Amino acid sequence: MKIYDTLSREKKEFLPMEGRRVKLFVCGPTVYDYSHIGHARTYVFFDTMASYLRYKGYHVFYLQNITDIDDKIINRGRNEKRDPLDISLEFMLHYFNDMRSLRVDSVNIYAPATYFIDRIIDQIQRLYDLGYAYETDDGVYYDVSRFREYGKLSHQSLDMIRAGARVEVNENKRHPADFALWKKRKEGEPFWESPWGEGRPGWHIEDTAITEYYFGPQYDIHGGGSDLIFPHHECEIAQMEAVSGKKPMVNYWMHTGLLTIRQERMGKSMGNVINIREILKNVEPELLRYFLLSSHYRSPVDFSYERIDEIRQSWEKIVIAYRKILKKESKEGESFIDDIRKYRRMFEDAMDDDFNTPEAISAIQLFVNFINKNMDGMGMGDIEESIKFFNDIDSILKIIPSGRVAEERIIELILSIRKMARERKLYDISDYIREKLRENNINVEDMQEGQIWYRK
Ligand code: AMP
Repeated sequence: MKIYDTLSREKKEFLPMEGRRVKLFVCGPTVYDYSHIGHARTYVFFDTMASYLRYKGYHVFYLQNITDIDDKIINRGRNEKRDPLDISLEFMLHYFNDMRSLRVDSVNIYAPATYFIDRIIDQIQRLYDLGYAYETDDGVYYDVSRFREYGKLSHQSLDMIRAGARVEVNENKRHPADFALWKKRKEGEPFWESPWGEGRPGWHIEDTAITEYYFGPQYDIHGGGSDLIFPHHECEIAQMEAVSGKKPMVNYWMHTGLLTIRQERMGKSMGNVINIREILKNVEPELLRYFLLSSHYRSPVDFSYERIDEIRQSWEKIVIAYRKILKKESKEGESFIDDIRKYRRMFEDAMDDDFNTPEAISAIQLFVNFINKNMDGMGMGDIEESIKFFNDIDSILKIIPSGRVAEERIIELILSIRKMARERKLYDISDYIREKLRENNINVEDMQEGQIWYRK
């Protein structure tokens, strides 16, 4: 299996540090608002990747941080006159819900930064003792000139970085690229005690404190969107390799291409942010995943509802073929086993080549064409093998709506018809629907909030 590494700029054979164990860290969101479709792009890909590695027999420990303290969170708290930590807790829970809706279920541990303040302080202290950090009036900063390899991930020299510095002007800093490890307390901000007084952590240090806690100083894969290569991931390398004296911090740096909306960068100031919860009102989660995975993870993806409509048919073809084969009755025999296995190999070859999901989806489409053509002549062994392949595809890409999700949608649809019947005072129809649902172990209660249903 090969993985493209941003640092060496090449596809490298994938060799975990410890046998078949894989330590994977992906930067989590800053939770100050609902998660948007750009988050979906990045997290659906890494979910697919982790699921594929598990399918291949690797034991993946997938860790994600959550940035639950940050300027944006504090600003929102100020505007809404609320405790910033209350805001981050609320949106962290929304994030978990959105991920569940998208069937992202491969993360082992979500680690919110504020739960790791002791670890963060400890790492800053060690950097300070080693001479990589200095204290100023407003915080503790990392001295980039002390780390000779600063810039190696984003392939720039310190002079280039200085010339292009878009970093805020701060007279306290020795170099424009020096970055805050600890920010001293300002009025109205949440704070924690530290050897440098009350304050809060800088952004980059959370990740290395958390990964050091769970993984140690070195691990296999670090992922995130390509917007994080510089400065975020560059700073992580500077912190971790300096504090441990070991390198490389990670063997594979993986970055997703950014999602744009009608070729424009998505952003609040552009007014074009589409939240996951909003899009899922109109688009099935599995179709959204299919859309996202139809592009290679390193390429940019442009989102539009028209594009989703365009690909809907090819997605439905897969779903329908799966439903058909589930119902297929057949006699003993297996004359197509080799063909079915060939399509599985095509799928795996694509995934083994730096997780080429568009190629993998092409292999699935060829497989679907094949079974549509040959289903009637298939024996029991062929059918079982095909269903197994579909199930494996779905455990990795998660693009086939599960029976339960489909069932729930149908119940909602039936209840919307019952609501129409009640509004038109057609009570015999609405009672009939309720009775029939009850016979199928679905209870419906008419409450103030509307119709509430549950399984008996
Ligand atoms: P943030 O909440 O902005 O800290 O981002 C959390 C993760 O989502 C990071 O890995 C980002 O790189 C990624 N991300 C944010 N916006 C986009 C986007 N438009 N396309 C792809 N990934 C994104």
